[in-house]
Amino acid sequence: MPHGPITISAKDCRIGGGTCYIHADRTIYMAEDYGFSATQRRSLLIHEIGHAVDLYNMTPAKRRQFRGLLELYCGWTDDSWRGCDPVPAEQFAEQYVACAYGIPRASVAERWYDYLPLPSLEPALCALIRSN
Ligand SMILES: [Zn+2]
Repeated sequence: MPHGPITISAKDCRIGGGTCYIHADRTIYMAEDYGFSATQRRSLLIHEIGHAVDLYNMTPAKRRQFRGLLELYCGWTDDSWRGCDPVPAEQFAEQYVACAYGIPRASVAERWYDYLPLPSLEPALCALIRSN
């Protein structure tokens, strides 16, 4: 869990609409259901909590370790020009969902990005996430 308070707002993301976590506000914005199922909304909420965990708990060294496990050679929030698509921060949030459910990423019913790590890496990725 994040090492600090977060609020869940029933308003749309103030940056571009939709759902997001804005660390300056310490808030997850999640207003409309956009036709999403309860399972999809739960997965999306956990993804946004993952962003809060990243921004509250992760250190630069732990981010380097996460990128190293996945052999990502781009900045944490760089655009995809270096081949990180999605960017590591989004991969972290997506991995957080799998770790929160305690299941392999491939078994997560609702995935928001085309991110699929090698199954052999997932124990180390989840251990790193839980080490916060
Ligand atoms: Zn995200």
